[in-house]
Amino acid sequence: MDIRANDPKRKSWVDVPSGSDFPIQNLPFGIFSAANNEKRIGVALGEKVIDLAGLSQLGYLTDLNVEHSVFLSDQLNGLIQLGKSTTRALRNRISDLFAADNNELKGNAEHVKAVLHNQSDIKLHMPIQVGDYTDFYSSKEHATNVGTMFRDPDNALLPNWLHIPVGYHGRASSIVASGTPIHRPKGQQKPKEDEPPVFGPCKLLDFELEMAFVTYPGKEMGDSISTSEAEDHIFGMCLFNDWSARDIQKWEYVPLGPFLAKNFASSISPWIVTLDALEPFKVQGPEQDPKPLPYLNYEGNKSYDIALEVGILPENSEETVVCNSNFKYMYWNMAQQLAHHTVNGCNIKAGDMLASGTISGPTKDSFGSMLELSWKGTQPLTLKDGSERKFIQDGDTVIMRGHAEKNGVKIGFGEVSTKVLPTK
Ligand code: MN
Repeated sequence: MDIRANDPKRKSWVDVPSGSDFPIQNLPFGIFSAANNEKRIGVALGEKVIDLAGLSQLGYLTDLNVEHSVFLSDQLNGLIQLGKSTTRALRNRISDLFAADNNELKGNAEHVKAVLHNQSDIKLHMPIQVGDYTDFYSSKEHATNVGTMFRDPDNALLPNWLHIPVGYHGRASSIVASGTPIHRPKGQQKPKEDEPPVFGPCKLLDFELEMAFVTYPGKEMGDSISTSEAEDHIFGMCLFNDWSARDIQKWEYVPLGPFLAKNFASSISPWIVTLDALEPFKVQGPEQDPKPLPYLNYEGNKSYDIALEVGILPENSEETVVCNSNFKYMYWNMAQQLAHHTVNGCNIKAGDMLASGTISGPTKDSFGSMLELSWKGTQPLTLKDGSERKFIQDGDTVIMRGHAEKNGVKIGFGEVSTKVLPTK
């Protein structure tokens, strides 16, 4: 099936301000509610949200054979469950309806009024009921930085790292959408080598700049998804802030890996940008040496050029951008991650979320965590208001943004913005 929704020449009859994250070539999916209305599926277009339940009710989506209740849902899972051919046809249909040369909906002012809301008037919600959440560790620069700081600069990468997309199973229940504040976690730490552990609020609270992908239905338990099949099982992507308590992490992570240092919160951007919309932004990934085992080999470009940034906004102050990175730096791509995740027969389901791991680039200003940016707290950052940061303070808001841009088309992710409140 063609992806005519990606046509770079297409313009919408809905006004889209220049520089918008949401031109007609994007059409990301989310869950929203307008005043006095139930939650439902929406699609972002410029500064508007298209009400898909409204479009369905008025008969504009009849040919797709999707039950109306799928659109009148408080999560995207029901839609994602229908698979790629349905969501691709739906995105094409929405694109047609809102294309400048199409009068079908444009010509009915009453219907237009019924299905279009201003983004400023609605509330966005958690878009997915996340089934299982997995976090990878797929940036070579990040793994090298962490290995250099905590182990041995000469052997920064552990022996398995260049052979396996290393990952762990995380916690789905505490993944929240942008705008939901989080409380500083508390727990066990061991600040002094030769003294017993202590208990208290985390002192080294950090963000991790990541992206996550949301899966379509997978295969039966026992079957595997190959790298060439992977894209048929990936619905879309969002920005992902994998909050981390570095002092808790350091004490607890041996031998089974992260636990309470990670499971207190992760934050995502509310719009899921489809993998279809990102198709034009594929690029070649980094060279992989040594060559991975055959099940991890892949053909064609599987990396994506997506510019990423992180800002810190202290309370009653102005924002300072502290990191500029790019999703294309990832050593292991999503197809390899999914192939590895399922090679043992592990079954994935519609609405699972697989995060990339911290996305660090080669330069100091592209590191995707405060741990790396302040080099374990030894090199504090100075913010625009003159204050210094080694890690994240109470009252700080951390904001992540991302977009891909090519041939005059910008596909943006909006942002994930999270305020840190004191320990409860
Ligand atoms: Mn992480």
